[in-house]
Amino acid sequence: MTPFASAILNWYDAYGRKNLPWQQNKTAYSVWLSEIMLQQTQVTTVIPYFERFLQRFPSVIDLADAHQDEVLHLWTGLGYYARARNLHKAAQIVRDQYQGEFPLDLEAMNALPGVGRSTAAAVLSSVYKKPFAILDGNVKRTLARSFAVPGWPGQKKVENQLWDIAQEHTPETDTDKYNQAMMDMGAMVCTRSKPKCSLCPVSEFCLSHRQGNPLDYPGKKPKKEKPVKETWFVILHHDNQVWLEQRPQTGIWGGLYCFPEHDSQQITSQLQRRFINDGDISNVSQLIAFRHTFSHYHLDITPILVDISKQPDMVMEAGQGLWYNLSQPKQVGLAAPVKQLLESLPHELDSNIHEETL
Ligand code: SF4
Repeated sequence: MTPFASAILNWYDAYGRKNLPWQQNKTAYSVWLSEIMLQQTQVTTVIPYFERFLQRFPSVIDLADAHQDEVLHLWTGLGYYARARNLHKAAQIVRDQYQGEFPLDLEAMNALPGVGRSTAAAVLSSVYKKPFAILDGNVKRTLARSFAVPGWPGQKKVENQLWDIAQEHTPETDTDKYNQAMMDMGAMVCTRSKPKCSLCPVSEFCLSHRQGNPLDYPGKKPKKEKPVKETWFVILHHDNQVWLEQRPQTGIWGGLYCFPEHDSQQITSQLQRRFINDGDISNVSQLIAFRHTFSHYHLDITPILVDISKQPDMVMEAGQGLWYNLSQPKQVGLAAPVKQLLESLPHELDSNIHEETL
């Protein structure tokens, strides 16, 4: 037995959880039921559901014979309903293919709907004391920190590395206690945001503790690169007023006021469509571009300031819009980057700092 496993087992004897309902009168059915319920749910939430299920379906055959509606009804509030559907299907497989007895073989158990490798190992080690390693979320965290395994465990390479470590340290004897202890360690000591290293039985082996950076493990899910889109805001300016249009109710900035948007820098022809003649344009200049970030993409915005010598009447007919007075602003809903630009505009207009004249 490795020193790590031995320290974990000693700790379990003193502090591990031994009174959970599924630890009493264990059967493969009751432990499997608890493992499925615990997959995405905390112990305190699971307890009443577990007790209700066992009361209504005392055996896997009772569960298999039930109508799916009733199973789903009893599951109500636990969430992730695919678990309940898989639970029911798995019970029917156990009834029909295994004469109502859960298979003792890891592969066969693993093949049941909703049962992964770790859940199968947890049931078989807990009930039949088979020496199978487990690797649920709590165990991944404790091992990643103890052995300073870099990377996000959602990546196969990292997960495989953690499985290797889990197997290396899972003892041949007392596997049931060791596996329970590892789950308890993750839930009680090596917790997600505040690991209690001073109370930890493996702190002397723990590499991340020695490095002083347990929270760097396990690695976070890599963030997806957001796509970058581009747009040009046309700021029609006349007599300290700028033209704003109300956006459609659906889509980004729905119902808010915004500068007219163009999808290319070639705005002259587009301005003409707004009945602005070349002769009415006194100056066109590009202001400093900036990035606005949405949850799914970045929007690079280039503002183009167009000074016009007279207010074109026809613009009013182009859509829902208003001439926004920079000295006496109207109380209207503004898209965030528009608000930002409006705040900086008086300075731009005063200092005439324009990046480039088009
Ligand atoms: S020493 Fe700290 S970080 Fe390391 S396993 Fe224990 S609780 Fe987790």
